[in-house]
Amino acid sequence: MEKVLVLAHTSTDGSLPKHALEALSAAKSLGFDLYIGLIGQTVQDAANQVANCGAKEIVAVSGAEFAQARYGTDTAAAEAICKETGATIVICPASSRFNRMIAGLAHRLGGRADTHVTKIGEGAVPQVSRWYYRQRMEANTSRKQRPWCIALESGCYEPWSGAAAQATVKNLALSPGADALKTTVTGVKAPAADLQTIRPDAKLLFVAGAGWTKKQADGQVHVDEAGKLILGFLEESKASLGGSKSVVDLGGEGQAVLPFMTHLNQIGQTGATPRHQKGLSTCCHGEEPHVVGWRFVNERRAVNTDPNCSWVQGKCDVLYVADAFKVIARVNQLLKEKQLQPSGR
Ligand SMILES: Cc1cc2nc3c(=O)[nH]c(=O)nc-3n(C[C@H](O)[C@H](O)[C@H](O)COP(=O)(O)OP(=O)(O)OC[C@H]3O[C@@H](n4cnc5c(N)ncnc54)[C@H](O)[C@@H]3O)c2cc1C
Repeated sequence: MEKVLVLAHTSTDGSLPKHALEALSAAKSLGFDLYIGLIGQTVQDAANQVANCGAKEIVAVSGAEFAQARYGTDTAAAEAICKETGATIVICPASSRFNRMIAGLAHRLGGRADTHVTKIGEGAVPQVSRWYYRQRMEANTSRKQRPWCIALESGCYEPWSGAAAQATVKNLALSPGADALKTTVTGVKAPAADLQTIRPDAKLLFVAGAGWTKKQADGQVHVDEAGKLILGFLEESKASLGGSKSVVDLGGEGQAVLPFMTHLNQIGQTGATPRHQKGLSTCCHGEEPHVVGWRFVNERRAVNTDPNCSWVQGKCDVLYVADAFKVIARVNQLLKEKQLQPSGR
């Protein structure tokens, strides 16, 4: 019988992030004995959050040294929790914090690690699914080695939810040595929230193609206007921004660019394949953004002036044959009006 441990770190407010609750859903679906392991400055709130999840025990390592992401302390804490619970399968959210330490953890425990896992299959011998070759092939694998440490990608499971209650936590005393503490996070440099266009938790992925920067019906390019319309839409809708390879490459070609569009926004075969509920592609023709880029997006629509745009036609549920400049200007206006209504809806 396997012993499944969900290993999570707390957020800065002491609660469990949504991603950790998704890992909990995945773990529960296996039907084995369940344990929870928590790492953070304080863990009681997080433990209370999952008090009714059916875990046999909640084990934690907490304290000021474990507040920040740091390989040395995170690996030591995770190792102590895994040994205490005797877990044979360890499932953790594939956060940047845990992605850094999961291979080291598996090594210390004499186990194996799998990362970028998107599904953990039920059954007597669990399997994990992972996409290869730029998300074109999916492989299901199983391992004999234990402990098996699995980092689960976000957005693949519904987050577990249940009533909070007062939980009993077994706190492990751990004093990290000087070696484990030698890295200190002195601050975080991040763009202002309104400049942050990649929003993994957004319901909608808005894809902008190179058409926004091309000559329009009047024979002129309107890149400034395009930038304002796209940013206006993102502000109103809180969507996440994706771009085609052509639009993110323009800067290198010395052409008019959308200044907020970077290679991090690129979706497709050589870009990202984000998981959002809905996708809206605008001024975009490419095969890769449509076939691969929104492969995991469930409801897909596109705006293109070209009714014969085959990739758009073949891959979206609804194609609006229209000028995206006009469509997005009108949509932005409607979204603004909606905000101004008394209910705020
Ligand atoms: C090995 C390889 C890997 C690749 N990987 C990727 C990848 O990961 N991601 C990716 O995106 N591409 C990738 N590409 C490139 C890809 O094949 C396309 O060249 C690219 O996606 C085209 O970008 P686009 O659709 O934005 O631009 P275009 O092909 O220039 O299309 C612009 C579209 O905008 C429309 N349009 C113009 N004005 C308007 C308007 N006012 N209103 C509405 N519509 C308008 C036009 O009708 C046209 O359909 C890859 C190519 C190769 C060879």
